[in-house]
Amino acid sequence: MDVIVSLAKRRGFVFPSSEIYGGMAGFWDYGPLGVELKNNVKQAWWRHMVTLRDDVVGLDAAIIMHPRVWEASGHVAGFSDPMVDCRNCKLRFRVEDLKGPPAEIACPNCGQRGTLTEPRQFNLMFSTHVGPVAEDASVAYLRPETAQAMFVQFENVATTMRRKLPFGIAQIGRSFRNEITPGNFIFRDRELEQMEMEYFVHPREEDHWFRYWVDERHRWWTDTLGIDADNLRLRPHDPDELSHYSRQTTDIEYRFPIGWSELEGIADRTDFDLKAHAAGSGKRLAIFDEASGEHIVPYVIEPAAGVDRAVLTVLIDGYEEQQLEREKRVVLHIKPALAPIKVAVLPLLRNRPELVERAQRLAADLRPLVAAVYDDTASIGKLYRRQDEIGTPFCITVDVESLEDGAATIRERDTMTQERVGLEHMPQRVADLVAGRAAWEGVAREVAAAAE
Ligand code: ATP
Repeated sequence: MDVIVSLAKRRGFVFPSSEIYGGMAGFWDYGPLGVELKNNVKQAWWRHMVTLRDDVVGLDAAIIMHPRVWEASGHVAGFSDPMVDCRNCKLRFRVEDLKGPPAEIACPNCGQRGTLTEPRQFNLMFSTHVGPVAEDASVAYLRPETAQAMFVQFENVATTMRRKLPFGIAQIGRSFRNEITPGNFIFRDRELEQMEMEYFVHPREEDHWFRYWVDERHRWWTDTLGIDADNLRLRPHDPDELSHYSRQTTDIEYRFPIGWSELEGIADRTDFDLKAHAAGSGKRLAIFDEASGEHIVPYVIEPAAGVDRAVLTVLIDGYEEQQLEREKRVVLHIKPALAPIKVAVLPLLRNRPELVERAQRLAADLRPLVAAVYDDTASIGKLYRRQDEIGTPFCITVDVESLEDGAATIRERDTMTQERVGLEHMPQRVADLVAGRAAWEGVAREVAAAAE
């Protein structure tokens, strides 16, 4: 994990929030490369969950909702972690993280025995005040999950979009949790981003859709995000660990450096939420079922994933240190669609104005099609290493010959193989490679054919 944290900082993926003031636990800022990677992850999710389907629509709800939402949902009473304090060192721990009953074990920090208090509930919601007077009546919460907006807006979405069961509402957005033990870099944050979808189904189809979404979401992690299937596993929850709203839950876990941990949870929330909000608001949250000719309250299957954990997973899973003949190479094997920069244009000599000009012109031609950069601030070997380390799938070197033959050398990140391609065709060629419309092996074949 230290290696990833250091790479993320050094290369502008993730910085500690407010770092010049000493940082703030559980808060992180995504730097220039991090924001691109994060946007690409979110886009990959949205495309898969909304754009390519005709049964799911999107939503972008306010972060602060009516406080009664959180009463009805059970969060005011129950969104809490049992915690113990150490009377000696004053640190606080989640009971879930302790390696035994608090009464029997030593404090994990100071090692003293008999110093841990009885567990107490600690609500994880951040509260704030809405309006000019900080009085109790104006207390509101920053949402601890995005899901509740989909239940509260169920009626509006179903009606305006003329939906029939089954259908889903998806949202990507910030959530806030006053985690007691934030840490492990961006694994457990206090300000986080979630990608959640509530899929409304006929109650009798509950099991079918639950299994469908577990499979579908697992496939997204392997096929779309490119995560090694050996580092992923499905873990069904034991009955005693299910949340109050859930009838069955399966976590998709990743083999993090800290051990197998949750990336995404797929929960069968039944009709718990719609019924709770119907009771809380006095509105009927139901949908007309043509088959039975009656209004029914649908069941809900929810795939809920964390954006930050997805970014962390992509970085960890893609990271490799290779020992080459004379040096070590760090390379980030990430899907071109996720890479912050798709192509870097590098002039072989930076003291040749015509060469620099041609390379900059190529970068400008590439930019409308793919994220491209121009870099001449180091030797070519160093520039390659820099791009390998941030996962850039292609580098193009413009050399003296380019000015004569109108071609340049394009190099692929994983194989480090190179091909000579005409400058005129280069932008479209790179765009096809990045979008997966062309394969790298195909470029080599074409070049060989053209030579003959
Ligand atoms: P955990 O058991 O790790 O606290 P959770 O079961 O409370 O997670 P959910 O409420 O199911 O998590 O949230 C859905 C997803 O949101 C999680 O799978 C995770 O990817 C992400 N997530 C939840 N809490 C955090 C956090 N504090 N920081 C970053 N991501 C989080």
